[in-house]
Amino acid sequence: MRIPWENFERETLDHLRALIRLDTTNPPGNEKIAANYMARVLAQHGIDPILIEPMPRRTSLIARVAGANRSQGPLMLSSHTDVVPVESSRWSRDPFGGDLADGCVWGRGAIDMKAKCAMDLMLMSALKRSGALAQRDLILAAVADEEAGSELGARYLVEHHPDLVNAGFVLNETGGFTMFIGEHRFYPIQVAEKGFVTVRMTVAGSPGHGSMPRSDTAIAWMAELLTRLTHTPMRQRLTPLVRTTLNELGIPPDKAPPLFRPMMANTVCPTIVHAGYKDNVIPGEATAVLDGRTLPGEDEKSFLRELRDIVGPEPTLEVIKSAPPAEASFDTPLFRLLRSRTEAADPGARAIPWMLPGATDSKFYTQLGAICYGFSPVRLEPKMPFGSLYHGNDERMPVDGLFWGLRLYADVVLTFLGLQFKDVFE
Ligand SMILES: [Zn+2]
Repeated sequence: MRIPWENFERETLDHLRALIRLDTTNPPGNEKIAANYMARVLAQHGIDPILIEPMPRRTSLIARVAGANRSQGPLMLSSHTDVVPVESSRWSRDPFGGDLADGCVWGRGAIDMKAKCAMDLMLMSALKRSGALAQRDLILAAVADEEAGSELGARYLVEHHPDLVNAGFVLNETGGFTMFIGEHRFYPIQVAEKGFVTVRMTVAGSPGHGSMPRSDTAIAWMAELLTRLTHTPMRQRLTPLVRTTLNELGIPPDKAPPLFRPMMANTVCPTIVHAGYKDNVIPGEATAVLDGRTLPGEDEKSFLRELRDIVGPEPTLEVIKSAPPAEASFDTPLFRLLRSRTEAADPGARAIPWMLPGATDSKFYTQLGAICYGFSPVRLEPKMPFGSLYHGNDERMPVDGLFWGLRLYADVVLTFLGLQFKDVFE
């Protein structure tokens, strides 16, 4: 049975709004409510998902529709169901209302990333409903805990249930949205992402009475170190990927705008500083948490060496958590498909390979050998401040742009499964 495309669009929108209304703010998470919702929808279409719950209410959902040819690596559609917290007083609408207004769906997760949850959910259901037989397995993974480091989500699945999420190819978040640089309109497709090394830096100094100021205190030293970290750029290195990206945009590396700087070096950013406990006591210790990000080709050791060069031998450096960078080849049939269909869907625009300075679940699925791309397409108008809406206030998704992306996404996924759009939709 083929599915009328307009119905498919409307249902996808309804699911997105319903998912936004389920508050899965992490912490604490509570992704169970989203997993249960998606499980009910899949069950209605005869798909029996698996729910994995490493801790109560921290539920991830995995589903699979088998294809005809098991020798071809499965395609996994990947999303996370948790969202970051909101500052409600700074929103102009209810962050968990899923309102439709000004041509947009409003709410936390509209972009990051319940829209793709809804797209993946609908696409898998449609494939099953249509009865069309794909050439490879299609896996859907809608997981918990991405926004807090993936310990109870993708990382847990990769370490404890690799058979469930072992895919040849993964389509995940962060890519396929319109970007405007100068005269260029383009669509970044994520093929690489940086790793992270989160470090606690501690310095000690002599304690004393606040009425007897000195310059050799832990606070003074920490202040110096933080200033130095802020003003000392880390070693610049142009990876072949970023060289390609800049080249395709016609931007010489030495003229790269600030947007590209985190893609050309490891970075370190102080995010938490702590010292002192009483107004008239000079504390003997000061600590700072440093958010370090590593380029593909770097690791924890090489990052710490570089950090050491900046802060000197004395401060104590303790790694709180880390994950490696990830990079996939963009010389694959799937990347060529993503590129050609995206460019056909928006004539005049270019689709280009891209490195994400942040982290996604792709870095974990990569460890099982999957080729992961960030592709969650949406067409945007130049005035839409898309980048700042990730984790920002008034997060919202334009409905027209979403429907444009949904069509492109369905086309790419079905083609890669060896099917045609008209096998499933009318
Ligand atoms: Zn996300």
